[in-house]
Amino acid sequence: MKRFIEGLDRGQTSLLPECVDDYVDDENPVRAIDAFIDMLDLALLNFDVEPKATGRPGYHPATMLKLYLYGYLNQVQSSRRLERECARNLELIWLTGSLKPDFKTIADFRRDNGSAIREVCKQFVALCRDIDLLDASIVAIDGSKFKAVNAKAKSFTREKLRRRLAEIDEAITRYLGELDRADEVMEKTGMVMPEARISRVKKKLAHFKKEAANLRAVEQRMDTTGETQVSLTDPDSRAMATTSKQPRVVGYNVQCVVETKHHLLVAHEVTNHGYDRDALSMMAHAAKDVMASDAIEAIADKGYYKGEEIVACELDGIAVTVSKPHTSNAAAVGRFDKADFIYHADKDAYVCPAGEWLTYHYTNEEDGRTLRNYWTNVCGQCPVKAKCTTGKERRVKRWEHEEILDRVQKRLDDDPAKIPLRSKTIEHTFGTLKAWMGATHFKMKTMKHVATEMALHVLAYNMMRVIAIIGVPRLLEAIKG
Ligand code: SF4
Repeated sequence: MKRFIEGLDRGQTSLLPECVDDYVDDENPVRAIDAFIDMLDLALLNFDVEPKATGRPGYHPATMLKLYLYGYLNQVQSSRRLERECARNLELIWLTGSLKPDFKTIADFRRDNGSAIREVCKQFVALCRDIDLLDASIVAIDGSKFKAVNAKAKSFTREKLRRRLAEIDEAITRYLGELDRADEVMEKTGMVMPEARISRVKKKLAHFKKEAANLRAVEQRMDTTGETQVSLTDPDSRAMATTSKQPRVVGYNVQCVVETKHHLLVAHEVTNHGYDRDALSMMAHAAKDVMASDAIEAIADKGYYKGEEIVACELDGIAVTVSKPHTSNAAAVGRFDKADFIYHADKDAYVCPAGEWLTYHYTNEEDGRTLRNYWTNVCGQCPVKAKCTTGKERRVKRWEHEEILDRVQKRLDDDPAKIPLRSKTIEHTFGTLKAWMGATHFKMKTMKHVATEMALHVLAYNMMRVIAIIGVPRLLEAIKG
């Protein structure tokens, strides 16, 4: 061991610091956790702060909250691991005052205080606003799929059930055929199939019959409840596509809003919809409320493009930048797209690619939308009609709120750098959260418990960001006011 740095002899008497506080320096994040939880009015947040009149005294909710916040900040989310850490981790000994709740008490606290824990997460975002860390005017919105405690094999759609039952029926027919052939051969030649082989075939048959019965029970449940998907382990989780290149995951789609200046997560919502298109106004409004701003800008990707959602945002003073997906049937078969027709508001008419004016004719309703219809009567003589329409004339429909969508498109055309700003702002947030969560993202089942877990992750993430931006001493000053 010569010429290496040597540790202390274990048997040597040493003078360790006299109090636990000496082990926790002024920059230690546990001081921020301690001060933040102590500043909260836990009774107001619906925690049970009244001690029980009888029986063994319980742990104060503040202690349990500190324990959980420490755990989520340090990627120790399981109640059993937290129990172990309480006994050996000096920071936790400092934070809890040497208390050592058992894993069941720890797990029960998280399970029983879901909505109050979610409020704590909001309180930290409010603190960030109060110390002017949410002064950005632009937010990025995105959703990401987080894995649930539900294996893909335990999640079913009608199509998957149909496919699997067909495979099982085929396998059962094959094995029954094998037994029939064995009987036939024995009758004709007296040769007997080896006992091991017969026993294996019978086991396989029993296995497939049992699986078919289970799947038929799932099918029956779908018929009764009208569900289109059933997940057996976590009933609220859903199989959903991530990207076209990656396989589906069984989990939750977590909607998040991140502000573009300090990259703090200002709002989040756990959903089990596999798509984002209905979430734009919900998330943008949540961000606007939290940031207490009269006008914010929201950037989202094309998965969020939905006219009604965009209009709801714009009417509430939220300027949206969202790219339009290319879903035109006409363009897909090589004909002119609606974007090739230029609207002139002063004349309330469109100019087509052949330079003709398409004028207003009538208004109708389709799928709850009020649409104005435009066309020209000269399409029959048009030299490029084959590239435009297969009908008598090309008709262009204009939604009553199309002007708002045009404004959103112009905003994007004027500043295309907004789209990469969205990915730069929000995608690393999802990456960090998922790295912290480990291989299976959520540890709990059902939407309400998963939402609690997500709130703890978001709270830990925001605290980590704030500490990185202003440091522990300034955060402590801000908390103490
Ligand atoms: S078919 Fe009609 S709408 Fe289309 S380009 Fe020709 S004139 Fe214009």
